[in-house]
Amino acid sequence: MLKIKKKLFFITFLALTISLFIGVYSYNIPSVMKSSYKDFLVRLNSGKISDVYIESSSNIKYTLKNGKKYSTSNPNTNTFKEELLIKDINVHEGTYSSSNLSNMIISVLLILGVGLLAYRYIKSKSKLKSSSLFKEATAPNINFDDVAGNIETKESLRELVDFLKTPEKYKKFNARQPKGVILYGPPGTGKTLMAKALASEANVPFYSTSGSDFVQMYAGVGASRIRDLFKKARENEKAVIFIDEVDAIGKKRAASPDSSNDERDQTLNALLTEMSGFKSCDNIIVLAATNRLDSLDEALLRPGRFDRHIEVSLPDINARESILRLHCTDKPLSNDVDIRKLAEMTVYFSGAKLENLVNEAAILAAKNNKELIEQFDFEKAYEIVLAGFEKKDRSYIKENDRRITAYHEAGHALVSRLLLPNVKVKKVSIIPSTKGAGGYTLNIHPNSLYHTKISLINNIKVSLAGRAAEDIIFGSDNITTGAEGDIKHATNILLSMIKHYGMFESMGMLNYEMIEGASQKVLDLSNYNITLYYNEVLTLLQENKATLDKIADALLEKEYLEEDELSILVS
Ligand code: ADP
Ligand code: ZN
Repeated sequence: MLKIKKKLFFITFLALTISLFIGVYSYNIPSVMKSSYKDFLVRLNSGKISDVYIESSSNIKYTLKNGKKYSTSNPNTNTFKEELLIKDINVHEGTYSSSNLSNMIISVLLILGVGLLAYRYIKSKSKLKSSSLFKEATAPNINFDDVAGNIETKESLRELVDFLKTPEKYKKFNARQPKGVILYGPPGTGKTLMAKALASEANVPFYSTSGSDFVQMYAGVGASRIRDLFKKARENEKAVIFIDEVDAIGKKRAASPDSSNDERDQTLNALLTEMSGFKSCDNIIVLAATNRLDSLDEALLRPGRFDRHIEVSLPDINARESILRLHCTDKPLSNDVDIRKLAEMTVYFSGAKLENLVNEAAILAAKNNKELIEQFDFEKAYEIVLAGFEKKDRSYIKENDRRITAYHEAGHALVSRLLLPNVKVKKVSIIPSTKGAGGYTLNIHPNSLYHTKISLINNIKVSLAGRAAEDIIFGSDNITTGAEGDIKHATNILLSMIKHYGMFESMGMLNYEMIEGASQKVLDLSNYNITLYYNEVLTLLQENKATLDKIADALLEKEYLEEDELSILVS
């Protein structure tokens, strides 16, 4: 905004200077000659005068019909004007000389012209900006069938469709409608697609913008754009607002106040204010997408703002198959195309990458004047796409990394089954999630008020089992950083046992948080025990190595195992 004002000021200033210069210059030209009053009367009577300018009480100017200009004294008689008028002369009072007048007119026109040009230039520029900032309520013609996989995510979003479609239903129970939902997960996993599907299925207008458009904005513009966006959306009874890359606006604020972040803070504050300003009668849902939930400012995640967080993860093998099928529906496929095999090959591909693969295969087939896309085209496309990815973002994970992840997760799962039979292992997966670098093992703990010493120890052992499996299979030199979170978890439990729960005889029943100078004792005991537990886990896994191999192999093949599949392998 400031910059625009500055520009306008500069242009106007320039125009004024130019016109002033012209004015002064032309004023100094001696275009008006002096004449005696007698000469004036002679010319008047011979009918040579066309105009008379009564400038002041002492001076008049007059122009002849041939255009010459003269000045002379003002006779100051009461009838002077009348006499002139009778002779059919144009009389001007209190005006400047005609030459100055025309200069004035030129100057004014010049200023107006330049001003207008500047105004239009700026207007057109700002229009360009605002139109690229948020796309007007386009009712996207997409529904949840256009999104393959992501079953849980779609389920959560369907609930919102119901909110938008039949708000009365919820109003009856005075249920608060969710206002803000954050979809988080790797790029290209269909977050935008799902936001559009939500608006489309609910049949409400869809307003979308991207946080990255707000970066490098003039001061105050970002905030006012946010207000505009919400105002536009509110003009509708119901609407969906989608903010892609919300982290560009809502990144955690730096601890030290930095002036370069002022603009972003203003934008973020505007967003927070708008969201807090929602009334319960507003049927507007704000969806935001980000790759990383943990990078967002806490203020955004507070209740009443973006308080629903839905993970959108990379597709597993079944989801990949359905995404591939979906993008193949409008393409002529040869019978030899094996979609399942393609799904197996495309580990760690996002939906966008799969779409890209199908498109690349179609291009190859077309280029070679084929009737149908063949498996060969897909495999060729796979190589092209993969080579591109490896160069671009290294997101393609090597086969060896998959093996490490598979054994690490198999270790957790197996030890959990053996030592904690009451804890359900719902799912083991080697697809990376935003929560962990490799896969994850989801444990559901039985509800109980207290934890026994043995169950705490076994929990520690389950945490250590990922590293132990790596150790056994790949050798102690090849253990990885993948156990960072596990070690933290194990340390946390063990320290609590020692310091808070009084579970070790040598420490007595004391709270070591309250006792100074006991840290060496705590350290020695933790070290001793963690080594003890780790060795016990190593032994346990070695005794059950055949099962460990079976689980790892199944994971490498299927990418994830459900509870019952795991039970079959372990029993
Ligand atoms: P994000 O917003 O998560 O970065 P997009 O929604 O922009 O990802 O996805 C980009 C494209 O990738 C989509 O237009 C679609 O063609 C394809 N795509 C991604 N995920 C899926 C999916 N689950 N099902 C079908 N197509 C998908
Ligand atoms: Zn682990």
